[in-house]
Amino acid sequence: MTPLVFHPIYSQLDLPYKHRFPIEKYQGIYDALLAKGVPKTVFHTPDPVTVAMLNRVYNPEYVSQLVTGQLDAKAMRRIGFPWSEQLVKRTMTAVGGTLLTAELALESGKALNLTGGYHHAFANYGSGFCMFNDLYLAALSMLQHSSIDKVLIFDCDVHQGDGTAKLAENNGQIATVSIHGEKNFPHRKQISDFDFPLPKGAEDDEYLDTVDCALNLAVNHVQPDAVIYDAGVDIHINDDLGHLNISTKGVLARDTLVFELCQQKGLPVAAVIGGGYQRNIDALVEVHIQLFHAAGAVPAT
Ligand SMILES: [Zn+2]
Repeated sequence: MTPLVFHPIYSQLDLPYKHRFPIEKYQGIYDALLAKGVPKTVFHTPDPVTVAMLNRVYNPEYVSQLVTGQLDAKAMRRIGFPWSEQLVKRTMTAVGGTLLTAELALESGKALNLTGGYHHAFANYGSGFCMFNDLYLAALSMLQHSSIDKVLIFDCDVHQGDGTAKLAENNGQIATVSIHGEKNFPHRKQISDFDFPLPKGAEDDEYLDTVDCALNLAVNHVQPDAVIYDAGVDIHINDDLGHLNISTKGVLARDTLVFELCQQKGLPVAAVIGGGYQRNIDALVEVHIQLFHAAGAVPAT
């Protein structure tokens, strides 16, 4: 069965009352997968990413200030979470989860992390709930394998993968695609290798045509050896931050399209769940779960 990566710390973070981040969703997805008959044995437990690993990519001063709680209030506001030791521990474990997912994907053809997609993190600052860019780090770790010369980061979260685009801008072995809402955060966009901005209110047909076209174009042009997929569900019609009108069926169709095309081309896929901001956790989990169905990670009933 498809290996899955989860740690209970993903949801273990106290946030201020009415904070808009749905931190409970990760445990909710795990519980829903177990309820659907996914055996516990398919879950792998990640270790936190190390500071040494982070320092390979990030400004060491930024890493040290964030880890020790010395970042100034403005920098923390830009991240959007109050600093705590638990926040750091959770973040480093989540990033470690995507690194483990990348390894498992290379071994098994595909693997999924029940968190991840911190695409607004830059080399020297964090933004939009993202502190360390797991997608970029996972691409670098895949490139350590002799069989991998090129990695495609395929980002379908509704927000542009600005941090990933900037980090990978001068790396010829990592190509970036972002399909996102044109009029949405981040308001100052970066330049990915391929950007597909969508208008507010876009519906399933237009969206799925764009995903199909973007993935085919990127795979043919880049000829990657592996894909990292950010399956954000903030594209959903009921999302609080998305402004697109994609149905739950549309989410399933998108995720199925990605896994099927990659399988046809023999490309391993490491997927992360990305953003999703409905306040109703059960409803949000139901949308995120589509990724696991598309990956064949849920037993047929
Ligand atoms: Zn997002």
